[in-house]
Amino acid sequence: MSSITIKSLPPLKAIRKHCLECVGNCRDDVRTCTGTDCLLWPYRFGTNPFRKTMAEAERTKRGKTMNHRHKPQ
Ligand code: SF4
Repeated sequence: MSSITIKSLPPLKAIRKHCLECVGNCRDDVRTCTGTDCLLWPYRFGTNPFRKTMAEAERTKRGKTMNHRHKPQ
């Protein structure tokens, strides 16, 4: 009986791992990857570039509040 071990990884970490394997475990090659048509390309650093940071989200929220307060009546 064989046992298969499946490691649980957060999705972004799994993408990072996949990208490293794709280019032979060379971090520089992941950084300079030219495969912009690859669906994983934006996530190759193991982060989501489309996600706002908490600071950005707070700034946006405050901006909306300020705009709301200063609207002419
Ligand atoms: S973005 Fe795509 S092509 Fe580039 S390293 Fe990752 S899996 Fe490979």
